[in-house]
Amino acid sequence: MTPERVALTYRGRDYTYRELRERSNRLASALDVGRGDRVAFLGVNQPSMVETFFAAGLRGAAFVPLNARLARPELRFILEDAQAAVVVLGEGQDGDGLPGRHIRAADYEELLATGSPEPIDEPVSQGDVCLIMYTSGTTGRPKGAMLTHANLTWNTVNLLVDVPLAHDEVTLISAPLFHIAALAQTLIPTVLKGGRAILEPSFDVDRTYDLIEAERVTVMFGVPSMFNFLTRSPRWERADLSSLRHLLCGGAPVPEPLIRIYQDRGLTFLQGYGMTETAPGALFLGSEHSIAKAGSAGVPCFFSDVRLVAPDGSAAASGEPGEVYVQGPNVMPGYWGRPEETAKVLSPDGWFRSGDVGVADEDGYVRISDRLNDVIISGGENIYPAEVESALYEHDAVAECAVIGVPDEKWGEVGKALVVPRPDTEVQSDELLKHLDGRLARFKIPKYLEFVPELPKNAAGKLLKAPLRKLHGGPA
Ligand code: AMP
Ligand code: MG
Repeated sequence: MTPERVALTYRGRDYTYRELRERSNRLASALDVGRGDRVAFLGVNQPSMVETFFAAGLRGAAFVPLNARLARPELRFILEDAQAAVVVLGEGQDGDGLPGRHIRAADYEELLATGSPEPIDEPVSQGDVCLIMYTSGTTGRPKGAMLTHANLTWNTVNLLVDVPLAHDEVTLISAPLFHIAALAQTLIPTVLKGGRAILEPSFDVDRTYDLIEAERVTVMFGVPSMFNFLTRSPRWERADLSSLRHLLCGGAPVPEPLIRIYQDRGLTFLQGYGMTETAPGALFLGSEHSIAKAGSAGVPCFFSDVRLVAPDGSAAASGEPGEVYVQGPNVMPGYWGRPEETAKVLSPDGWFRSGDVGVADEDGYVRISDRLNDVIISGGENIYPAEVESALYEHDAVAECAVIGVPDEKWGEVGKALVVPRPDTEVQSDELLKHLDGRLARFKIPKYLEFVPELPKNAAGKLLKAPLRKLHGGPA
């Protein structure tokens, strides 16, 4: 054990492993929660977020991190669905209109002082749910993916098989910990190994360069758009990147030109594919294959299985598309309080249907080629068209609408809304976009909105998104 080593760095303040442990114990004893309860956290990356995660786990409760970018009605929905007993508020957050008991950032240290630094005596097993992370779906409303201690443990083992993290890593965490990748692929493995995690409240190009150089950062996780932003800065050419050992990238395919730009600086990506429901690692592509297998998301993680299933239910042959199914000790037991939704995606023998389509090459490397649901992935955030469409339908002037993803140089994809206005109404696109503001998180608000006379449908009247994409696929 290394109690005097630094576990977390935040705004220039270091927290040793001893402190992190004592502070988490204090919070665990001060929180009035028990096994099976839910403890929510609203805010961006900061020590109290990590402490709340550990404290909930120590009590056998589940940590429910809330995406700080969500609008109030979205947050309220999740908190009511999760029936969270407590909401810990991060710096700058207010709990106005949110259910549950609130712990304000201003009262946080005082609360810790009332708790005991000694370990909690609570029976917690590997099968207990320690995390409920909300992820939307085709139906629009977000669902809470339950992840157990075992799920996170096995994901960490899978990661460490492929990424040889050392005890002296300095990991920069500027991707949000309320998403699974930053939490499970960087924070957990770093602290497990005894390394140091630098927490940043958000991603900023100049801050990233400052920290890499000043703190000699060795590990960074990001979605492709973050790594892309770094190359567009004037500092790219002159920055000292010699400390970097591992660049972890996932959430969307890494474009080959980006791989090459980094390769020219002697840096290679470790790429992965996964999802919240699989905690998240499912496929992994090591840096030695990043050019030869560019465009691929890799092969199954060591303790997990992935298969590609053709539409008729048989195994897809190599070169043929199939839906990606994942099985293994990292796969969630289900969605919180949603047995029917769980049954749709999780078979009794533990195969999880991802809704993504993949194609394997002759060596078994899988390229993610399509998505069966219409999710739009924009700068690391998922946008579910159904959610945006139902918010648009709340406006009287909208007769019909559809939201599709269009390519965007900066964010990978952005949303575009096609709206059929009601006859005899006068409505401008500004007004509709304003209507969405406050109902939806900013990142979900379509970048483009266009009025159209009608939307393509099949004989049964079902909206056809494929022709719509073909017609409107380029940025307007
Ligand atoms: P989430 O449930 O929010 O964690 O998002 C998971 C989804 O992101 C997956 O179902 C995929 O559609 C997408 N995704 C994640 N990693 C990759 C990748 N390497 N390549 C392509 N799509 C990815
Ligand atoms: Mg998903």
